[in-house]
Amino acid sequence: MSADLPNDRAPSAETLAISAGYDPASARGAAKPPVYLTSTFVYPSAAAAKDLHVAFFDGVDAGAAPGFIYARLGHPNLDMIEARVAALDGAEDAACFASGMAAITTTLLALLAPGDGILHTRPLYGGTDALIYGELARLGFPAFGILDAVDPAEVDRAVDAALAAGPVGVIWVESPANPTATIADLALIAAAADRIAARQGRRPPIVVDNTFLGPLASNPLRHGADLVMTSLTKYAAGHSDLLAGGISGSAALVRRLKQARTLFGTPLDAHSCWLLLRSLETLALRTARAFANARAIAEYLRGHPKVRSVTWLGFLAEGTPARAAFERQYRGTGSTFSFKIAGGEAEAFRMLDRLKVMRMAVSLGGTETLICHSASTTHYAVPKARREAVGVDDSTLRISVGIEDPADLLADLEQALEAI
Ligand SMILES: *Cc1c(COP(=O)(O)O)cnc(C)c1O
Repeated sequence: MSADLPNDRAPSAETLAISAGYDPASARGAAKPPVYLTSTFVYPSAAAAKDLHVAFFDGVDAGAAPGFIYARLGHPNLDMIEARVAALDGAEDAACFASGMAAITTTLLALLAPGDGILHTRPLYGGTDALIYGELARLGFPAFGILDAVDPAEVDRAVDAALAAGPVGVIWVESPANPTATIADLALIAAAADRIAARQGRRPPIVVDNTFLGPLASNPLRHGADLVMTSLTKYAAGHSDLLAGGISGSAALVRRLKQARTLFGTPLDAHSCWLLLRSLETLALRTARAFANARAIAEYLRGHPKVRSVTWLGFLAEGTPARAAFERQYRGTGSTFSFKIAGGEAEAFRMLDRLKVMRMAVSLGGTETLICHSASTTHYAVPKARREAVGVDDSTLRISVGIEDPADLLADLEQALEAI
């Protein structure tokens, strides 16, 4: 496509979000893709059936025309959304899953070998934390947290602690992290992976959960990540009406995840693929508006006497390692952040119950503004000590700013904060 342009310009992510992954010629010229609601696919001949299986399971091209076998292994709408997600992430390939957690579970189980440890940044999304410290710990995968992933001494300390216990199978990075928007320095993480490789002779893949900023503001693959994971439920879907997860990276790693996905039964269904493809067309518009609204709200909150602190990325102090990493890695300040009110759970609940425009719900990245009390909802299952170590206490509220008229959002906050 780029070759047709007079100056050989490669299309930008904003353009790819509208066009990549679907060719109208593949569906009788339909401008928008059909939804292929079928669980299985008819083989054109017995020999072609065999060739398709050889290609899928052995990765050997036996000359079969491209085709599908059974929807759990792959289907047309999945191909479309994966091509678009890969294009946005700047990756060779992508795999899409029934939810962000389906992507995370499939990835960790596919990458870990028996006895491997997981090195991870802190804080983690509540579900990831519960998976790693619950189900995966139960299966014998110990976990080691990095409390401040922009501090070389702290990264070294965590690496040493992990290596003392055994091999490291994967490095899981969440940046910016949920709910505090804490960021990791990906160059430091890549150096840690090199150091681990030198010690154990196997480089643990670095997986970055990029849900908070998404592909238009953040491309971890350009900064040393091997895989980038996104809960597509959030900004990509953007309307709080479906669950989906995506993982992008090299063709070889993604192929491995697709094989595991076939057996774990975690692919994304055709209808959700179709909705996501449609949602991505407006991703740039929605995030630009939400990011601008978030700036207005963060600035308002920072000046409010009932608010003790605001962890919006735009407020990272100049001259700090976090600010430097932010400037190297990201092109936007995001629209989900947390703030602490002057008070505890009782004051937080009183304020939340007075909101009229903002909806009280978990999740983020939708058109509507959502707000919740982290300790009693998204991070309820995270033990209090681990939660408080990363700054999530009873005064913490997380807000995901939507695309409403910002004046209405500010007025709503103004009247609700009077309850404190
Ligand atoms: C929501 C979320 C997930 C999990 O995604 P689901 O689609 O809800 O399964 C993982 N990581 C982060 C940072 C999230 O916000």
